[in-house]
Amino acid sequence: MKANVWHGKGDMRVEKVPDPRILNPRDAIVKITSTAICGSDLHLYDGYVSTMEAGDILGHEFMGEVVEVGSAVKNLHAGDRVVVPFTIACGNCFFCQRHEHSLCENSNPNAWMAEKMWGHSTAGVFGYSHLTGGYAGGQAQYARVPYADAGPLRIDDGLDDEQVLFLSDVLPTGYMAAENCNIQGGDVVAVWGCGPVGQFAIQSAWLLGAERVIAIDRFPERLAMARDWSRAETLDYEAVDVADALRDMTGGRGPDACIDAVGMEAHGSGVLATYDRIRQMIRLESDRPMVLREVLRSCRNGGTVSVPGVYGGFIDKLPMGSVMNRALTLKTGQTHVQRYLQPLLERVRRGDFEPQRLVTHRLPLDDAPQAYRMFRDKQDGCVKVVLKPWLH
Ligand SMILES: [Zn+2]
Ligand SMILES: [Zn+2]
Repeated sequence: MKANVWHGKGDMRVEKVPDPRILNPRDAIVKITSTAICGSDLHLYDGYVSTMEAGDILGHEFMGEVVEVGSAVKNLHAGDRVVVPFTIACGNCFFCQRHEHSLCENSNPNAWMAEKMWGHSTAGVFGYSHLTGGYAGGQAQYARVPYADAGPLRIDDGLDDEQVLFLSDVLPTGYMAAENCNIQGGDVVAVWGCGPVGQFAIQSAWLLGAERVIAIDRFPERLAMARDWSRAETLDYEAVDVADALRDMTGGRGPDACIDAVGMEAHGSGVLATYDRIRQMIRLESDRPMVLREVLRSCRNGGTVSVPGVYGGFIDKLPMGSVMNRALTLKTGQTHVQRYLQPLLERVRRGDFEPQRLVTHRLPLDDAPQAYRMFRDKQDGCVKVVLKPWLH
């Protein structure tokens, strides 16, 4: 089959690789009809995630048709259409029972690597380094899906791929980010980053009862999307001092909840941004936390900071004094996708979300390397790319 394969920083190639096979009784093989590039894939592209190996197949947002199931999979059959959660979870362990699927204790065969880096391991993830299991990803014509009896969501009705594809990650990720804000009626929520997760976080904040949502970015097309589609007030961080502006907009108090939907490759200016860039370059700091610092400083006393943006390792100059003295609550985590699949599918059916409106580019899988470059450099108004593995 064809797959998009990682060969090193900035070097991805679409190549012929062996077809995946059933390895365990709970596996399924899915023929992929649509797959997306995620903002977090850019951290792999830019070489900021450790434990990637040349030959790794990328991609964790995909859907398709079941072509084969293992002997223990009774709820799926060849021909079923499914969306696959990016988090791989067994469905039975301590954390899966608590619906904290991204913390599954059984799905990361390389748990020892994660324990070294983080103290404890998390779940396995498709196409996202050996630290999270070294699983082949879904930017390919086929994928092996472990625990297929517990993860994938069957789509029985006539919804299009693009209406349901983002249930694999960015829609539940934006929703969980807003849910983590514990929004009360009348709350003001600020969202840093107007990419796909940011847009769905804004829209979810409205659904969960926010009274005002303020979105922060610098790219005009993303700010326009936040205004016109997601109905947020917007701030261009290159035009205003965000912390000052937020204080002004909230009677001096700051937003009740703040969401960092940017993560480890934040852009910024000033002394600390330069400090981060240099330390990340010479590998003294793995992540650039410009946005997170601003989020923590901007949130009102006693407010909640929610972090769906991906961080990999270590950061410096985190204002812990501000967090402690101002009684902030910090909520974060990889998304427990399985928990949200059914409820969010219902919301898509009802029209609460129209995820297909996120898609700015549709391309054949063969164009994946160019698509990554376009997405990373935000060329041509690119917000979300869907790749079609069977299109030529
Ligand atoms: Zn993703
Ligand atoms: Zn589990």
